[in-house]
Amino acid sequence: MSLIAGPPAAESPAAAPPEHNVTGVDYADRCHLPYAGPLIDIHAHVTVTGPDDPPGPPLGSTGPGSSTAPAEVMLDAAGEFGVVHTVSMCLPDQIPVLRDRFGDRLSFNGWISKHADEPEDAAYRLLDRFLEQGVRMLKFWSAPRGRPWGMVVDAPWRIEVLRRARAAGLRVVMVHVADPDVLFRTRYADARTFRTKDDQYPPFERLMVEFPDVTWIGAHLGGDPEHPDHLERLLERYPNLYLDTSGTKWLVREASARAGAIRSLVCRYPDRFLFGTDLVTRYPLPRDHYVSRYWCQRTLWESGWEGPSPIADPEHAPGPGCTPTPTLRGLGLPRDVLEKLYFGNASRILHNA
Ligand SMILES: [Zn+2]
Repeated sequence: MSLIAGPPAAESPAAAPPEHNVTGVDYADRCHLPYAGPLIDIHAHVTVTGPDDPPGPPLGSTGPGSSTAPAEVMLDAAGEFGVVHTVSMCLPDQIPVLRDRFGDRLSFNGWISKHADEPEDAAYRLLDRFLEQGVRMLKFWSAPRGRPWGMVVDAPWRIEVLRRARAAGLRVVMVHVADPDVLFRTRYADARTFRTKDDQYPPFERLMVEFPDVTWIGAHLGGDPEHPDHLERLLERYPNLYLDTSGTKWLVREASARAGAIRSLVCRYPDRFLFGTDLVTRYPLPRDHYVSRYWCQRTLWESGWEGPSPIADPEHAPGPGCTPTPTLRGLGLPRDVLEKLYFGNASRILHNA
């Protein structure tokens, strides 16, 4: 997820197009999507949500007016696109509510973080609360913007969380390790604070070396869809590393821009990729917000569709004469590869977790 998901674009009287469909594409048109089997979304944030949610993490709330109704809207759209199971990151106290409502359609990933001024024990108590809820997977969010408050992958308190989680039998950890290249030229230009993009990886690699029996999931194509050669080196070096496809705007922009190389990589390592969206259930979002992400993800991986992405992308800097959104170029993955990426690989990991 983006650390702070902004509110949906305001609808002005001039009827500015919504962020989820700036090109006016017909999301009901799905003739270009040949895959008819099931999908598992390994990376999403299904929450109990309402009008009093805080603007940033922790996501969702159980405050006045909150409910599971928006999650139902999201999961109904998911079902329309064949998603039969979603792994959600949410607060531990939301898990029983969501489990009651959605049963086997959801499982849960425990988001382990703490504020800089909190003692390390805060992270260990959070782990305990997730373990009490039967969570079998953890998330270490370590985007560069978290560095100033100590959210690096190999912070000592995270290593201790990992030791305790392993002692409890947990063996799957998802890591958000880096952000788009474009942000290192803008938001993260101060390398003394944020370090370079290359600098983000050694802490992650250190943990993969020290905990080789953990199944590692690199969120957002390992944080580096811009460099498929780097992803290949990581896949070669760490046999327990998987990469998820979540982060639709980022993946649409950067995988499309090097469609041949990404397609070749996925086809050569078909057992190592997992479908994910990074969709966040939020109280005011319209159904088509969710639809847009499922539609674009499936269009990217399985079709030969090509055109301007329907989703507004603030990270896209169009050159003269270019379309305002990046080009979405479908990779047209073969059916046997899609079956693994969409379902088989995640099914194996969740079954063994
Ligand atoms: Zn996320």
